[in-house]
Amino acid sequence: MPFSKSNPRVKYTLEPNDFNFPTGTLTGQMAEIRNFLNRSGLPVGPIWFSHLSFNLVSVNKSTPSLCFFLSLSVQTITKQVSAMAKVLLSLSLLSLLVSIALADLARIEHPLKNDGSLSILVIGDWGRKGTYNQSLVAEQMGKVGKELNIDFVISTGDNFYENGLTGVDDKAFEQSFSDIYTAESLQKPWYTVLGNHDYRGDVIAQLSPALQKLDSRFICMRSFIVNSEIVEFFLVDTTPFVMKYWTTPEDSHYDWRDVEPRNTYISNLLQDLNNALQASSANWKIVVGHHTMRSVSEHGDTAELLQYLLPVLKKNGVDFYVNGHDHCLEHISSTDSPLQYFTSGGGSKAWRGTYIPNSDKLQFFYDGQGFMSLKLTKSDADIVFYDVAGRELYKWSMAKINQGHLPCNEAM
Ligand SMILES: [Zn+2]
Repeated sequence: MPFSKSNPRVKYTLEPNDFNFPTGTLTGQMAEIRNFLNRSGLPVGPIWFSHLSFNLVSVNKSTPSLCFFLSLSVQTITKQVSAMAKVLLSLSLLSLLVSIALADLARIEHPLKNDGSLSILVIGDWGRKGTYNQSLVAEQMGKVGKELNIDFVISTGDNFYENGLTGVDDKAFEQSFSDIYTAESLQKPWYTVLGNHDYRGDVIAQLSPALQKLDSRFICMRSFIVNSEIVEFFLVDTTPFVMKYWTTPEDSHYDWRDVEPRNTYISNLLQDLNNALQASSANWKIVVGHHTMRSVSEHGDTAELLQYLLPVLKKNGVDFYVNGHDHCLEHISSTDSPLQYFTSGGGSKAWRGTYIPNSDKLQFFYDGQGFMSLKLTKSDADIVFYDVAGRELYKWSMAKINQGHLPCNEAM
């Protein structure tokens, strides 16, 4: 598509499966691109960017082909750009973007409220087209979300049962998401990780910006950071860790595109996470993944996460690990570190009837449907679990004074 005055919007599509990056996160790079254009000597006149957006699938080093697309809105171009210049321009912008992206996990900035607090809901294991009480849980989330004036929602994965999405035009996206979480209070970003059931479908489709065109709330990436000044959420793609999905997939197909080989993917992810945690100066560090680390319910602990991920969390003073996968609500305290484990996987089908204790301290376990809220200030964290009727089942608070931890339980 050529530059021209009549066609001011020029789109470089370097890969079809791009991801819409939230506006504003890379605005700092605008100056670099302007400088590049000034230095390049390209046969173009003054170019004014009215809008510049970056879109990327993944910024994980384990992804062999980094995919970007860049759209430029050009207000004024005084000369026709030659074909060669266009190629040079796109290649140079690509290399600039690759160098930016390789440095870190993708990062989203989400502002705090004016009073310095942040309130969110956490839900997992939900996408069943409203069945298994998904709609009832959604209704209560809407009420609690309004009371707390939530800033966003975190989804701990298994977003679409049984086998993820079949493509970007899979009606399950609307039937299990847009048509279910309709309350006004839930019209906020949904920062979302993938679960093992999502990997059984078309993962590239679930990561695609085409879904954001259908429902702009749905922000799903493999691994990324949401930063809100006092807190950083590190969302981690845990499915590739679990060896049985690779070796004994049974009747299921797992979509390992952009993931295999497993070892490289995992080691790069752990390194990126470790670097990001070390660099974080947030008061609260919260890691989110789909799979359990510690759980007394059906799936129990995930051995690969205890072996590889847990040491990174403990070493870097992570406060909470939040997950789904087991279809219940749980709070477990580590007995040899300040780390707290929270399971919020009660978005639909539940009631497994399994209880297998482990050596860490079980604070709360509810083998049914529900969800979790989290309110944070610089010094305090308040966590509440709710059931399918919106009743508060359990409250837990923690204060940090001079980086010390003072837990204060209140079971109901
Ligand atoms: Zn799962």
